[in-house]
Amino acid sequence: MDLTKLTIASARKALDAKEYSALDLTKAYIDQISQKDAALHAYLEVWEKSAKDEAKRADARIAAGEALSLTGIPLAIKDNILIEGRAASSASKILENYRAPYDATVIERMKQEDAVFLGRTNMDEFAMGSSTENSAYGPTRNPIDTARIPGGSSGGSAAAVAAHMALAALGSDTGGSIRQPAAHTGLVGLKPTYGAVSRYGLMAMGSSLDQIGPLTKTVDDSKLLFEAIRGYDASDSTSLKESAKDFKKPRVIGVPRAFLESGVDADLLTVFEKTLGALREKGYEIRDIDMPTLPYGLAVYYVVMPAEASTNLARFDGIRYGLSEPAPTIGEVYAKTRGKGFGPEVRRRILVGTFVLSAGYADAYYRKARAVRAGITREFADAFQSVDAIAVPTTPAPAFKFGEKTSDPLAMYAEDIFSVPVNLAGVPAISVPCGHVARESSQLPIGFQIIAEHGREETLFAIGKDVEAA
Ligand code: GLN
Repeated sequence: MDLTKLTIASARKALDAKEYSALDLTKAYIDQISQKDAALHAYLEVWEKSAKDEAKRADARIAAGEALSLTGIPLAIKDNILIEGRAASSASKILENYRAPYDATVIERMKQEDAVFLGRTNMDEFAMGSSTENSAYGPTRNPIDTARIPGGSSGGSAAAVAAHMALAALGSDTGGSIRQPAAHTGLVGLKPTYGAVSRYGLMAMGSSLDQIGPLTKTVDDSKLLFEAIRGYDASDSTSLKESAKDFKKPRVIGVPRAFLESGVDADLLTVFEKTLGALREKGYEIRDIDMPTLPYGLAVYYVVMPAEASTNLARFDGIRYGLSEPAPTIGEVYAKTRGKGFGPEVRRRILVGTFVLSAGYADAYYRKARAVRAGITREFADAFQSVDAIAVPTTPAPAFKFGEKTSDPLAMYAEDIFSVPVNLAGVPAISVPCGHVARESSQLPIGFQIIAEHGREETLFAIGKDVEAA
């Protein structure tokens, strides 16, 4: 079997036709990981033994003719999604010795299909970052050019799939953490409609923004994995009973032209425009639209997200989870544990979040940000009155080099300009590879981002397939 050509869909056919077993497939991936991962560091832990046991169970099910879409499919899971009995650290020192006491709902659903879990993948600590450089366990390298970042925060999941060390992976996306690493590694990344996929068992970052979603090689695989994990879950109070709307063939794609002037790389823009041209040739109407509030998305996100994260991370106090630094008073236990357990970016966001929520400043920052967020959400709703989808690049530039933005948090945050408005509005979006730009000796992949109305993932898949074929 040629792992570089394999997709979930093609592996499913081969497994069902008994061309090879799930155990053969799993062993091939474990081999690939042992050959490649020392140089890439996509995985924080590989579960060779349990993966092989899971593959054997999958083989028995395939033999019985009872295979489902993920039966025997080897997958990688981001380190902030709980698997019962397994370590889960969110790439933080504070959770170094933490073990998950239960399965996340998405994991439970995959286990019901007898999927194979290869290991947990590296990420920016608590999903805060755009390069995986904020992991407490060292960065992950981009398989396309190892001098460059794989994106983040789901950089380990992206590198694992791009280097054929997993057939597909799960990531989480609070402000772009699935779409941006997918773009930088040449993969398809989906951020589902808020509420479509259960957040139960996902370590919370910004609870009103977080969604779990797939990183895959193709749009078909993205749909397959999304179908397997989506659906109502009583354990998540924001889970939607009915999230999907009836499919209608998309025809009009809106492009917020003015927004594209926000410092986009010229070569990247050329690739983006070429893809728009190809879509026009396929019969889509490409229409310029005006969305004047979008440029404020970044500022709003970097108020709302730290506010929510500062609250969510209050639970890591040295008493209830993981690391605990002894000290004479309880206050000192909190301070010492958090000071030692959290990295600099996490501490920065806790401070910013606490500040924007504090009595004297909540009106000026947090409440104002929420008001502008409502404006952004309205602007999307208005736009979808006249267009079926909105297209923007996934990132403003191709993958950057290690260290390029680490000393300037604002430059790092600017990487998220095109991804965060989607999370603020709760709408679904997909990043699909649409071409390359040359940098030094590398051909770096570019992501084409498609955004649709709530519940219209099918629109994303339909246009995504046309981008793939372009
Ligand atoms: N890069 C963004 C941030 O640092 C998004 C992170 C995410 O989606 N988890 O917040």
